Amino acid sequence: MTFRILPRAGLAAGVVALSISMTAGAVEAKEPQAALEAALARQPETAPAKNVILFIGDGMGVSTVTAMRILAGQRAGVDGASYDLAFDTMPYGGLVRTYSVDGLVTDSANGASAITTGYRTINGAIGVDGEARRGVCDPARNVPTLAQRAKRELGKAVGVVSTAAITDASPAAFYAHVPARGWQSDVDMPAAAREAGCVDIAAQLVLAPDDIRPDIALGGGLTFFRPEAAGGRRKDGQDLAALWTSRPDSAFVTDRDSLNAAVAEGRDVLGLFADLHIPHEVDRPTAAPQTPTLEEMTRAAITRLAAEPQGYVLLVEGAHIDKAHHAGLLNASLTEGVELSKAVAAAKDMTDPTDTLIIVTADHSHGLAINGGARGDDVLGLIKGPTGAPMLAGDGLPLPILTYSTGPGGPKAGEGRRDLSDVDVTAPDQVRQAGVLLGSAAHTGEDVPAYADGPGAYLVTGSMDQPYLFQVMRHALRLPVKAP
Ligand SMILES: [Zn+2]
Repeated sequence: MTFRILPRAGLAAGVVALSISMTAGAVEAKEPQAALEAALARQPETAPAKNVILFIGDGMGVSTVTAMRILAGQRAGVDGASYDLAFDTMPYGGLVRTYSVDGLVTDSANGASAITTGYRTINGAIGVDGEARRGVCDPARNVPTLAQRAKRELGKAVGVVSTAAITDASPAAFYAHVPARGWQSDVDMPAAAREAGCVDIAAQLVLAPDDIRPDIALGGGLTFFRPEAAGGRRKDGQDLAALWTSRPDSAFVTDRDSLNAAVAEGRDVLGLFADLHIPHEVDRPTAAPQTPTLEEMTRAAITRLAAEPQGYVLLVEGAHIDKAHHAGLLNASLTEGVELSKAVAAAKDMTDPTDTLIIVTADHSHGLAINGGARGDDVLGLIKGPTGAPMLAGDGLPLPILTYSTGPGGPKAGEGRRDLSDVDVTAPDQVRQAGVLLGSAAHTGEDVPAYADGPGAYLVTGSMDQPYLFQVMRHALRLPVKAP
C-alpha cells in the first residue's frame, strides 16, 4: 500500500475517483490493516515492572494533544493530522476522569496527587486523603506517594523533573504532603501551620529521610530553597541547597554542564535552573540558552536512575502546556507539548519496554476547540474560505482554527470579538481569541487521555478513574495494596 497526497484536481475526474475508492485512506499516513494486525499480535506484558516513568502533560486535554500533533507534523514538514507524537504509537490507552473531592474541574494539585497517591483530595491539596481540609495542618491526613513507597519498600531510586518550580503542584505530588499547594517555602505558610508541625514543600523535598527522598530532582524554584540573605524567599535562615549538598555524594547544580557532570559522577542531584519557573521554550533563544530542555532533563534523570540496580520511578511534567494555556499563549503551549513528546521519545529510546512501564497522561484539560481548517493550513492560523481569504463567521469576522473557551483573549463587556483580519495570529506573543474573558484561562472538566507501554500497560484501558492509574503503577511494581 502506498501513501500519497492526491491532487485536488484529480478528485474532480471520474476515472481518478474510481481509483481513489479502491485505495480508500490513501491520504492517510496510518495503515489501518497493519494497525489491526499489530493489535491482533499484541500480548499483554504481565511481568513486574522494574522501572516506571510517569509523564504528566499539565493541562494536556484531548484537543490539546490533537493540536500538538498537527503542529509537530507541520513543523516537521509533513501532514499534521496523520502525524504521530511519541506517545501516539503506544499500544494501550483510554480516558481518565479528573474531578476532585470538591469540584467538577480539578486543579493540578488534586489531579497529580490522585495519580501519584491513589487518593482524590480537595482542589489545592497534595499528598493527603479526601478528608483533608484546605490549609488545615493535619499530618494524619498524609498518604504515601508511589515514589515514597517504591523507594522505602522496594529500594527503587526516585526522580522528579518539571519545567515549573520543582515545588509546584504536579512535581510536589511525587514527594510532598500539604493541604495547600501554595506552601512552597516557610514564608508561604501560615504561622499556625508551622507551629502545628507542618513543613513547607521545598523543605519536604530536601529534608526527607534518606529512604524516601528523591535521588534526582530537576526544575525551577530556586527562590523557595534559598534564604533571604542569599536572594531567596526563606525567612527561617535555611539554605536548602547547601543542606542538600551536605549529604555524601550529592550535588546542587544550576546549569546544563554541571548537571551532566553530576550525573556522570552518579551523584544525588538537586538541579534548580530558574528562580521560579523555567522559561517557555519559545523564549529560549533570549531567556535561557544555558538551561536544559525538558528532553535534556529527562535524559539526565534516566541516565542517573538507570545506574540503580533495583530500578526506579520517575515523574516528568511538561508544566508549561498549562501555564501558557492560562495566559492564552497558544503557540507557546503547543510548543511545550511538542517538547513533552520529545521527552517521551527520549524515554522510549533509553528504556526497554520489557522492564519499563511508561504512562503519559494529563492532570486536567483546558478548553481548546478545533473549529475547522484545511489539512495543509497552518494550525495556528485562521480558517480559510474557498478563495484562500479568511472565512468569515456569523459575526462577519475571521475565525481561527483554534480558539479557547475562556481566557485573556475573550471580549470585554459590551465589546465584540476582535477583528483578526490583519493580525499574525501565529506569533508566539499573540494572545489567542477566547469565547469568554477570564484573566487566566480556566481548566476544563472533561476526561483526559492516557497512553501506556510496557509491563502492566494493558491495564490502562477504557474509562478510568484518575486514582486508578496509581493502582496500575503500584501493581506493575508489585507493591502491596497497603504500605506496611
Ligand atoms: Zn493550570
